Amino acid sequence: MRRRVPPPGLAGRTDAAGSSVIREALALTARPEVISFAGGLPASELIDTEGIRAAYDQVLSEAPHRVLQYSVTDGDPELREAVAARLVRGGLAARPDGLLITTGAQQALTLLATVLLEPGDTVLVEEPTYLAALQCFGYAGARVVAVPTDRHGIDVEALADAVERERPKLLYLVPDFQNPTGHTLPLDRRREVARLASARGFWIAEDDPYGELRFRGSRLPWISALEGAADRTVLLGSLSKVVAPGMRLGWLHGPPGLRRAAVLAKQALDLHSSTVDQAAAARYLRNRDLDARLDRVRALYRERCDTLLEALPRVLPPGSTWSRPDGGMFVWVRLPDGWDAAALLPQAVAQDVAYVPGAPFFAGRPDPATLRMSFATHGPADIGEGMRRLARTFARATPAERTRVPAPAGQTGL
Ligand code: PMP
Repeated sequence: MRRRVPPPGLAGRTDAAGSSVIREALALTARPEVISFAGGLPASELIDTEGIRAAYDQVLSEAPHRVLQYSVTDGDPELREAVAARLVRGGLAARPDGLLITTGAQQALTLLATVLLEPGDTVLVEEPTYLAALQCFGYAGARVVAVPTDRHGIDVEALADAVERERPKLLYLVPDFQNPTGHTLPLDRRREVARLASARGFWIAEDDPYGELRFRGSRLPWISALEGAADRTVLLGSLSKVVAPGMRLGWLHGPPGLRRAAVLAKQALDLHSSTVDQAAAARYLRNRDLDARLDRVRALYRERCDTLLEALPRVLPPGSTWSRPDGGMFVWVRLPDGWDAAALLPQAVAQDVAYVPGAPFFAGRPDPATLRMSFATHGPADIGEGMRRLARTFARATPAERTRVPAPAGQTGL
């Protein structure tokens, strides 16, 4: 047989997405007997399957050829109007033509990175931050620099220092009920972020998929709506956590030049998001009272969050600390010094319970004692049972099991 020349290797940017111990352990959580606090999945029983089916039925029977045909890249005009109206109610001077409908907020992030970042550009992020944003900036070849946070989100003094030192092009923030910590950035810090961006000249990506899931306290303005921020802040939003993640619909709202560039980038990526899904979403928002629905979702998530928070002192080893979110889906836990949440995950999975170790959410030096738990997916009874299993896991862990250094952490999704 003649000698065969292998094809060239994959691009260097694929290195960061390797397999990991964590990913393998979490793959086991698909077993139905596992109570998983790991995924960022909205509660399935809260998805309005009947209302969504009716919306699809209507658009498919009224205008089948329109909704099954190619469409414009900007997005369904009726959907953009409905989203703009919700943004206006939230205090942002949004117009339908300032919006680009995307395939989930995740695609909005990719588009933002595509139109803004050159390889080597610096992006500042909260430490820890949303894992798939780190992946996205990694694929763009950006230099990602972590800024410290406390229980109110990003530390604005540390941010001012980092801006001075690093000259970032972009600051990525999740101001409401952050993933993974659940923290919410107070108004004075939002103002300081807007002031810094204006004075020092950098972009802000304000990623807000969870803002409508507030179950305590009152709503804070978007940074996008604060003085001096409109021409340099890009607001990313999503229907995933308020309607259904499987529809894969999100949006990007930003200044005209950036939005125009993002429309062209999206054209090259996928032409447009699904016509029928957008039409059904627009119809759904027109027909159903989303706010009344969200009231129920918020009440349920609050109950679930409180059930989890109330159990934590009995479950976690003494000396642990945790966040107390005002909304969203996540509680962030720190075990005592010396504990390693990734090392313990296989013991947890053996007890049919799971969480996400915190290490992959760090852009800088990971804190192995941290982990993220979602309270949204399960009802109180399952949360209670899951917590009993976790209590057993922590109580039975031998010193070797709870401190073993695992293989390098990789990505875990969600
Ligand atoms: N940003 C953050 C902070 C998220 O947590 C998520 C979803 N887990 C996304 C963006 C992506 O959401 P979507 O389903 O709209 O793509």
